[in-house]
Amino acid sequence: PHWAGPWAVSLASGSGGGGGPSARMWRVLRASLLRVRAARDWARGAATGQPPKEERDPAPAPYRDTVLLPRTRFPAQLPGRLQPQAELETQQKCGFSELYSWQRQRKTKKEFCLHDGPPYANGDPHVGHALNKILKDITNRFHMMRGYKVHYVPGWDCHGLPVEMKALSELQAQDLSAMEIRQKARKFAERAIEKQKSAFIRWGIMADWTNCYYTFDGKYEAKQLSVFQKMYEKGYIYQDYKPVFWSPSANTALAEAELEYNEQHISRSVYIKFPLLKSPPKLASVMDGLSKISLLVWTTQPWTVPANQAVCYMPNSEYSVVKCTNTSECYILAADRVESLAAILDMQFEVISTFKGIDLESGSCAHPTIPGKDSPLLPADHVTMAKGTGLVHTAPAHGMEDYSVAAHHQLPMDCLVDEGGFFTEAAGSELQNKAVLEEGNEAVIQMLQAAKSLLKEERYVHSYPYDWRTKKPVIIRASKQWFVNTANIKATTQEVLKKVKFVPASGQKRMLEMLDRRTFWCISRQRCWGVPIPVFYHKTTGESLINSQTIGNIIRIVEQQGSDAWWTLPVEQLLPREAVAKVGNHDALDYVKGQDVLDIWFDSGTSWARVLEDSDQQADLYLEGKDQLGGWFQSSVLTSVATRKKAPYKTLMIHGFTLGEKGEKMSKSIGNVVDPDVVINGGQDHSKEPPYGADVLRWWVAESNVFNEVLIGPAVLNAARNDINKLRNTLRFLLGNVAGFSPETDSVPASEMYVIDQYMLHLLQDYSNKVTEAYKEYDYSRVIRLLQAFHTRDLSNFYFSIIKDRLYCEEEKGLKRRSCQTVLAEVLDAVVRSVAPVLPHLAEEVFQHFPYKTELESVFRTGWINTSSVWKKPGLEEAVEGACAIRDSFLGSISGKNALEHEVVVVIEPGLFFELMEALQPEESSSISQLNEIMMASKTTLLTKLPKELASEEKIIEGNFLINLEGGDIREESSYKVIVQPAAGAKCPRCRRYTSDSALTVCPRCMEVIAQNGKNIM
Ligand SMILES: [Zn+2]
Repeated sequence: PHWAGPWAVSLASGSGGGGGPSARMWRVLRASLLRVRAARDWARGAATGQPPKEERDPAPAPYRDTVLLPRTRFPAQLPGRLQPQAELETQQKCGFSELYSWQRQRKTKKEFCLHDGPPYANGDPHVGHALNKILKDITNRFHMMRGYKVHYVPGWDCHGLPVEMKALSELQAQDLSAMEIRQKARKFAERAIEKQKSAFIRWGIMADWTNCYYTFDGKYEAKQLSVFQKMYEKGYIYQDYKPVFWSPSANTALAEAELEYNEQHISRSVYIKFPLLKSPPKLASVMDGLSKISLLVWTTQPWTVPANQAVCYMPNSEYSVVKCTNTSECYILAADRVESLAAILDMQFEVISTFKGIDLESGSCAHPTIPGKDSPLLPADHVTMAKGTGLVHTAPAHGMEDYSVAAHHQLPMDCLVDEGGFFTEAAGSELQNKAVLEEGNEAVIQMLQAAKSLLKEERYVHSYPYDWRTKKPVIIRASKQWFVNTANIKATTQEVLKKVKFVPASGQKRMLEMLDRRTFWCISRQRCWGVPIPVFYHKTTGESLINSQTIGNIIRIVEQQGSDAWWTLPVEQLLPREAVAKVGNHDALDYVKGQDVLDIWFDSGTSWARVLEDSDQQADLYLEGKDQLGGWFQSSVLTSVATRKKAPYKTLMIHGFTLGEKGEKMSKSIGNVVDPDVVINGGQDHSKEPPYGADVLRWWVAESNVFNEVLIGPAVLNAARNDINKLRNTLRFLLGNVAGFSPETDSVPASEMYVIDQYMLHLLQDYSNKVTEAYKEYDYSRVIRLLQAFHTRDLSNFYFSIIKDRLYCEEEKGLKRRSCQTVLAEVLDAVVRSVAPVLPHLAEEVFQHFPYKTELESVFRTGWINTSSVWKKPGLEEAVEGACAIRDSFLGSISGKNALEHEVVVVIEPGLFFELMEALQPEESSSISQLNEIMMASKTTLLTKLPKELASEEKIIEGNFLINLEGGDIREESSYKVIVQPAAGAKCPRCRRYTSDSALTVCPRCMEVIAQNGKNIM
């Protein structure tokens, strides 16, 4: 603690001899006994927060008892096991659960809307949730304290495959009805939500937890379908047969946002021959003399070869026809790849001729395994020259680019793979029912070998898409799906995104790039735990029936009964008779309900429609992890732009992911998974996993550079706790020293304050402004850096050490002491507020210990720091900084010895610098001047010339100080000299400075103070 002061030493009773304390003084001392006891208990550290036990005073220590030690019951630190409990009590006492509703009811027009991205209702709360929710809460609490009405409605993403899978695994029965699965899935999601919700509340997240949004709520689903309806009416939604990412392991189509790329995926890549069937006319003369010409093709997915419909080339690239010197067979391949392919295939090539790709026009080749099937040679711009052969086999059902080529040239797009990833009957009996990624692949390779079309097979490691939920590889497969035509929305979306503020700014480019790559958005899923795509199909023709009226009817039903109605109600109730009549008088019973549900990204992407109160409203902020640049941020902006031509957000803040403390991924097998519940309440062994409480978790979030990877582990958490304890000590010093002070009646106007106190107010103002700016910029790690610099450097190490004598030894109610107490009260107020959004529990705890009563029970109900500008005397900073420069010279020369054992002589030639120092000490010599206080010496003498009677051994320290006044208009380099001498006086038994005539009597200053305090008490 800062105040482990000299008065801790007891003093021999001094009734005899000259100058002992008078009888009157003794009475004074006894009168203050009560206060003294409290102070002593406090100094011992009332760590339990309980009133200390009465103890017998072993011996009278009269002078110590006249010293004004800090008094507060605010504990220096809580033993670990009490920390979580104390936080819960604070939450209760300070009304955490009512704060959100309270602030909503304030009469203010200013609103700050942070729209919550819904976490997935699957599994336990983890540190990724903590990072996200705490960042949001810091943001909300700051805005709330600044007087904004915060709009923040937490939500959950409840549908989707992972929940459905968990439900199915619990049921473990075959042939379940959709409703059985849906009921189980709902229960599962509800349990996960309750668990997560109670964790979020425990972390101190401010919200109305009885009023959240859930994507499985009927009202939500109805809003979502209204967005679907509007998009359908505007022609953005269509059904098509297209290749899409398909998860054989989950039997459903997937969106790009549902893919995870495995960088270490191994494919069986093959080099194969496609025999030239018809020479391209332009190359007839070259080809005619050659025999056995093949196009050389490379693929990593041999199972797609049976679906091949064409071979593509780059029209502007160079190709060669080469002859293998061993076999005399000829190959066509990219000119640039001749050498490397000769090496790969272990062949010698002789180049016969080189030509442009365009010259391959109108040629064709045979299929390597299907006799009689020929494939045209076609130009395409997606062909890569970096690897492979420059010629690409084209299977329209299994590739997006292949599909485009096929659509352009009207090639067949037959898909030979079923929903489970097996070859269908159409693939032929050799392949039927074989899984394409396993034995199907092997069978194709064997067929290629048998046809003598296989030149080489090798393992190929590359990045390959996996299903983010089942963690199994996906394929591309053509099927009939529902799509959002993003191509038509893209241009407007890009314009709109350019007006959105991104934090950090680099997110904008990344999001625009990701949007640019997106061609269409497949929104149908072949599952049952979701919102139905409201479409009906004719029983015999298969023709779909969907229009504004049919969708509108479903919206009305879902709003009242929830989406279960799609499965429980008969088709004639879901499909209005008039709608059926419109398409030709059919009976509703001629139709069946569609089986697909909407992509969960469409669920969550329409949350703005449900949560933002006004249909025209934009949220001030969306704040999520970087994966949402291609996920929720995108699905939200696309649906909002499609229906109302604006982004749903004004600002996007993007944070990184959480990793172990060495930057490694967290995994159960490594054993480095940090469980937020264990962080707060401790693990099984408290020596290894101590209970830290929620504020430590919050501090970790705030201090981290959240725009990068965010590291967490035992060392990080322990450091966070130590940092908070240091802050506690600072706050405890402030609380203890404003005891008995009332800001309303005892404050000293700035113009009458000590210069150092005024200076401190300026540092405080600067801190307050900077910290407010950092909050406004969402830069919470800067908030923490500013706070730490301020409380350790400016307060503890600088200001507190200077003012201790004044606080403890000067007259209790005198101007000198009130002057610095005024500053301490302001500092306390500002520091508590500045840290409140990050550490709400600590801030409330401190606020409860304010010695001056406040009506309100919560610091959050009393606003932000009052940063009004303070009175500033010209030359103030120069005077303090100049004095500090001299002090540094002095302290540097005594290397760690007690400054009080010394006297200082300061010599400055007449001039501006001397005048500034003289303002701090008008007398030539003083032990009570402002200058001497800053020196922290027992006495300071200020001279314009070196004294004549200078002892020869005395060392003179020289230094310079640059005065820079009025914005640089007045600049004056001044030199000074410092002479350090041992203090001449005896040690005052009260204040322990060397200012007394004898070690048995107090110094004149202390004598006066004791007398004055006596008067005050009596
Ligand atoms: Zn003294």
